[in-house]
Amino acid sequence: MKYCKKCLQPDTRPNILFDEHGVCYACLYEESKASIDWDARFNELLNIAKNAKAEAKKRGNIYECVIGVSGGKDSTFQAVYAKEKLGLRPLLINCVPDEITQIGQHNIDNLNKLGFDIISIKPNPLVAKKLAKSTFYKRGNIVAASEYCLWASAYIMANKFNIPLIIQGENAALTLGTALKQKQSDDAFSVTALDTLRGFDIKELIDGIDGVSEDDMYFYSMPDLDEMKQKGIRAIFLQYYAKEWSQVLNADFSIARGIKGRMDDDLHDIGRFRRFTALDCDLQIANQMIKYLKFGFGFATDEACYDIREGRLGREDALWYVNEYDGLCGEKYIKIACDYLGISKDEFFRVVDGFVNKDLFYKDENGKWKPKFKVGQDFNIN
Ligand SMILES: [Zn+2]
Repeated sequence: MKYCKKCLQPDTRPNILFDEHGVCYACLYEESKASIDWDARFNELLNIAKNAKAEAKKRGNIYECVIGVSGGKDSTFQAVYAKEKLGLRPLLINCVPDEITQIGQHNIDNLNKLGFDIISIKPNPLVAKKLAKSTFYKRGNIVAASEYCLWASAYIMANKFNIPLIIQGENAALTLGTALKQKQSDDAFSVTALDTLRGFDIKELIDGIDGVSEDDMYFYSMPDLDEMKQKGIRAIFLQYYAKEWSQVLNADFSIARGIKGRMDDDLHDIGRFRRFTALDCDLQIANQMIKYLKFGFGFATDEACYDIREGRLGREDALWYVNEYDGLCGEKYIKIACDYLGISKDEFFRVVDGFVNKDLFYKDENGKWKPKFKVGQDFNIN
């Protein structure tokens, strides 16, 4: 396992790219931001907005863009930005996670009250639960199917209502450096190349699940993107155009407009040191712990990397946070995951054990997985 020379990003992240000096593509992007002509990009964006308005008018459509929202920091920023800075009338699409948290519900209501029309999609919970269980056993991922639904819903509704523009937030190719499959551009149709979506074959997904057919998968399936393009529907990443876009700015911006974070949680229970991510669904907490055991990094590493790149933390200080919080998941969130999946804690960990990267972790005398590596130091896997 090799780490980026600037941040703490390991090369175990799927599809991550490094340059010849051992610097990850996310850090390279951050550096390149200084030489981007942001005024030109903003003008380009204004043009896209202008076209969307004209196109919507031509189609007799009052909505000019579609934004998929959870009510969290990024989607609140996107919605307000589209309305206030671009003068667009957005239709917000909220794919409600199964067993949405109180904070998540507050945040989506908050966004509604800020003056937006929202369509909430609530996929069949019996199917959702079966899918979560299946992906947990097959891939060690509880939320894979629900993430797919989250992505697809904005595209499905834009296609359905023939709305000319989809505004997505962050392009992972830029911020995570996963440009191997996805382009570092504004083109948000490229999300189908993302790791969460790629190779997500519906037939394979539902294979072996009793009582779930392809007809149950409407909200999990991306529409035909070529057909959408032919209809003149465009999908962009706001991050590509908005100089302001950053994790902390989006959080500050959205807190000022009423969103709530995980203020009552012990950070050790949530395995992260910032309180404004993964707000609407508690299953993501246990899922990040599994990710940590699979790849040697969890959400605290992602947060630390953002902070290093954006100059809020030095690499040494960031290391402290990662060592303190990464990969942790409180008993309460393990229980939530077990209850949701309908399995015992023993069964949960039996399955998780099968997905642990044994090159990176060993089991100590108490049966706990411990890292063989030291965060930030290149580690030879024998
Ligand atoms: Zn880096």
